[in-house]
Amino acid sequence: MTILVRTRFAPSPTGFPHVGSIRTALFAWLFARHHGGKFLVRIEDTDVTRKVKGAVAAILDGLSWLGLDWDEGPYFQSQRLELYHKAAEYLVSRGNAYYCYCSPQRLEEMRKEQVKRKVPPGYDRHCRNLSKTASPNLSGQKETAGITPVLRFKMPLTDQTRFQDIIRGNVVFKNSLMDDFVLLKSDGYPTYHLANVVDDHKMEITHVIRAEEWLPSAPRHILLYTALGYTPPQFAHLPLILGSDRSKLSKRHGAVSITEYRDQGYLPEAMLNFLGLLGWSLDDKTELFTQEELIKNFSLERVSKTAAIFNTEKLNWMNGVYIRQLSLDDFTQRAFPFLDKDLPPMMKRPLSVDYVRQITPLIQERAKLLGEVTQLSRYFFVEELDYDVNLLINKGMTCESTIQALEVTKERLRELETFDAETLEVLLRSLAEKLKLKAGQLFGALRTAVTGETATPPLFQTMAILGGERCLRRIEEALDKLKKLSV
Ligand code: GLU
Repeated sequence: MTILVRTRFAPSPTGFPHVGSIRTALFAWLFARHHGGKFLVRIEDTDVTRKVKGAVAAILDGLSWLGLDWDEGPYFQSQRLELYHKAAEYLVSRGNAYYCYCSPQRLEEMRKEQVKRKVPPGYDRHCRNLSKTASPNLSGQKETAGITPVLRFKMPLTDQTRFQDIIRGNVVFKNSLMDDFVLLKSDGYPTYHLANVVDDHKMEITHVIRAEEWLPSAPRHILLYTALGYTPPQFAHLPLILGSDRSKLSKRHGAVSITEYRDQGYLPEAMLNFLGLLGWSLDDKTELFTQEELIKNFSLERVSKTAAIFNTEKLNWMNGVYIRQLSLDDFTQRAFPFLDKDLPPMMKRPLSVDYVRQITPLIQERAKLLGEVTQLSRYFFVEELDYDVNLLINKGMTCESTIQALEVTKERLRELETFDAETLEVLLRSLAEKLKLKAGQLFGALRTAVTGETATPPLFQTMAILGGERCLRRIEEALDKLKKLSV
């Protein structure tokens, strides 16, 4: 019998969507799409104190940007409280959960004591045998005294919980080492454990695909599924993602939120490809995958057990590859908003699409990020160039010989009728010869003069786009600077 695969992405809206969390979403999505199943999004927002404004929108934006579409949801756990309360009541009625009246102060003292005695932390089960039936007076008294209890799971004290994780294989946890964790908090909200299990069951999730940090939760969840009379889903815990120095991936390694990557000008297809290889591979050589290829080839069996390294250089390389693969129109369209955002605000808007379209062919080869496009093409847009005058003087030249070369060049350019790349090339090559300069010396001086940069796309094309008038004006300005230097 084939089952319909159903996976989910279940983020807590406690911050902006970390690339690690999006990698989890991607693997769950790929698995569902590979099997022709369903992928759903569930926002686990039961921790009221840790909710961050704007986080849900950023999470959904991040998913949409990468093309990770969902078939159901987003569900919000905060809108499903009744379900969790029903499950909690069921557990109490079956003797699998109990109310705990321990004050935060008592728990704090207990924790300190445990640290002092170097015993594993965890609730000491003080209220475990304080059930209403066992000692109705005591619990009754506490409730009238205004103490709102929490509900705890009654952990079996013997045996082990074992399960087969699709990635990690056979996993065994000793029940006695797990404490009686909280199911319902005193504010009436369920904990992650309860809400997660109830929802994965109600939403008929077949495969729980999530980060390795949740592995210790899995045995608790399995016991909870069993206590609730549910069949547990299959589990697949994905390997950690580390920075290149093998420490936990953090801000220090560059951006971490997926929306930041988007804003820096990574392409979604490159990001998708890169994230797809964080812990999964087809073989040890294939690096480039389209979305369809990832879907076709993805399997949990090929997810590695060892941590994946987030290598920003590789991501940048990959992004460059994807940028160069874009059609010119597509690249122009994607680069446009970055120019619009990053060029000085006093420049005339809207920018001319036709003009931008002349420049993008020169930039596409060189940009690794869309966010670099403005820096690489500034001199096409801004009037004033700001550069160190010494950059005009090339190797083997002096201030005087540069002045002389630029003066002659200026005169010759002024006489030109057509200012296109071929004409410029013919003219400037023969001029270099006449001036007894190496082509590189003359072109170098000219490049700095007209762009303010020492490395640019091909000079003649660049000059043709800048146009005769602007080039001549900039050569004048360069000459002024040089003359000031020589006096
Ligand atoms: N809300 C948890 C998280 O933020 C979900 C973990 C799970 O997938 O079970 O990652």
